[in-house]
Amino acid sequence: MRYAFTERIKQSLRPTLYRALYRNREQFECPICGYHGPFKDKRVSHDPDIVRADSKCPGCGAAERHRMLRLVIRDVLQPHGSPQKSLLHIAPELCLREWLSALYGTCHTADLFQPGVDFREDVQAMSFPDASYDCVVISRVLTIPPDLNACIREIRRVLKPGGIAIIAEIYSHEKTVEFGRMIESRSREIGVDLLDLYKQHFSRVETLLSGRYDGRYQLANRILRNGVPADNFPSLIRIPETGFMELVAACHVE
Ligand SMILES: [Zn+2]
Repeated sequence: MRYAFTERIKQSLRPTLYRALYRNREQFECPICGYHGPFKDKRVSHDPDIVRADSKCPGCGAAERHRMLRLVIRDVLQPHGSPQKSLLHIAPELCLREWLSALYGTCHTADLFQPGVDFREDVQAMSFPDASYDCVVISRVLTIPPDLNACIREIRRVLKPGGIAIIAEIYSHEKTVEFGRMIESRSREIGVDLLDLYKQHFSRVETLLSGRYDGRYQLANRILRNGVPADNFPSLIRIPETGFMELVAACHVE
């Protein structure tokens, strides 16, 4: 109890402390919690030499992809949602729940491992009937399941006519690289060619790049390798001498 109370105090003070400690750093705005001030650098876990600069919001912990998804929800799903419609959030991000619940009358969550979700589901073979949902949101999942085509087919299958799938991944290669086995819990690295696979399953695919949004939200993945900017990413998402843009696909069923 006392620990939880202390944690809450720490959490509420963290943004103020961070602003005071790093007041000379570039200032940003978080579209999720409304924080204004510098963002934190974030270490990329699998490689100790790589850091994403100005990545994490000290207010709510949101990273570039969360902030990008919040803006996509505002622009793409706000006109689509209604109290009569339903949404399936796969591998749900807690910081987006409030925004999604405000738009759709029914919001279900699903994951194969994450605790606290409504349904324990494998995205390659979901248990829902055809045309169960009006919207599916899925982010940073498709590197993991062995059968990529089955994942896309299933996301399309559970959507109703007029439905939308919001799919956010790191499209770090020109072409998707299949490992043929699991390496560090992943089956592949995803390329921008995955957009072609979406087009085979969906009537229309919108490509939303983070460059469309104001820089104050800091949606650029500013990759530093040993302190030097890395920019060897596919041309569609590359930001020269900086890193890469977030890409979210809005896949429509007509
Ligand atoms: Zn925030």
